[in-house]
Amino acid sequence: MRFLKQSIAVLLALVSVLLLFVPAVLAEEHVHEWNEGTVVREGTCSQQEVTEYECAVCHQKRRELTGYGEHLHTRVVGERAATCTTKGYTGDTYCDDCGKQIAAGREIDFAAHTPTEVTTVAPTCTEAGYDESVCAVCNMRFKSNKVEALGHTDADKDAKCDRCGTSLAYAGSGSDVCKVCGRVHNLDLADRLLGAWHTLTYVFNNAWNSFVGFFQGLGK
Ligand SMILES: [Zn+2]
Ligand SMILES: [Zn+2]
Ligand SMILES: [Zn+2]
Ligand SMILES: [Zn+2]
Ligand SMILES: [Zn+2]
Repeated sequence: MRFLKQSIAVLLALVSVLLLFVPAVLAEEHVHEWNEGTVVREGTCSQQEVTEYECAVCHQKRRELTGYGEHLHTRVVGERAATCTTKGYTGDTYCDDCGKQIAAGREIDFAAHTPTEVTTVAPTCTEAGYDESVCAVCNMRFKSNKVEALGHTDADKDAKCDRCGTSLAYAGSGSDVCKVCGRVHNLDLADRLLGAWHTLTYVFNNAWNSFVGFFQGLGK
């Protein structure tokens, strides 16, 4: 009986020792199994984000700084619209919270001119025509809508331009002025034949007049 009592006492002692030490040993030796963490404070450009992790085994918690966040309050400084004489600028972006320049601006190319007071200059035989306008902003003058010079025309073939009267020298042979029609017959074959006819009638008329004159002289 006494032996049994002693045995139970020893057994109880052993069990209590196990109960006391085993969990403590387990707790100390395990590798924490941290979860993915939850953000407990959002980060900004000037204050880091705080994430809290918890061990799945012992439920111990730890916190870590997990990086800066976005610049929340930004403004654009130094923006300038382009005109026809000056280039523009998109402006630099600054953060109001941390004061840092976040983005540099870029140049904007010249704006288009603002044409007004359009004057139309008609083309002539030798000069091109165009519209001339003045920029309302910088007063620069521009020529646009150019029309080619018209070139001389001579529909009636009198060797003078119908529009401006300039004497026109034709290509081809012949330079004598016709005594009948007062111009040079050298435009084309038909015109030369006409010239030959004019010469022929002139010579014939002269001969006829001389002939008539001769007899008139005789009659006196
Ligand atoms: Zn743990
Ligand atoms: Zn900032
Ligand atoms: Zn302009
Ligand atoms: Zn002309
Ligand atoms: Zn003629």
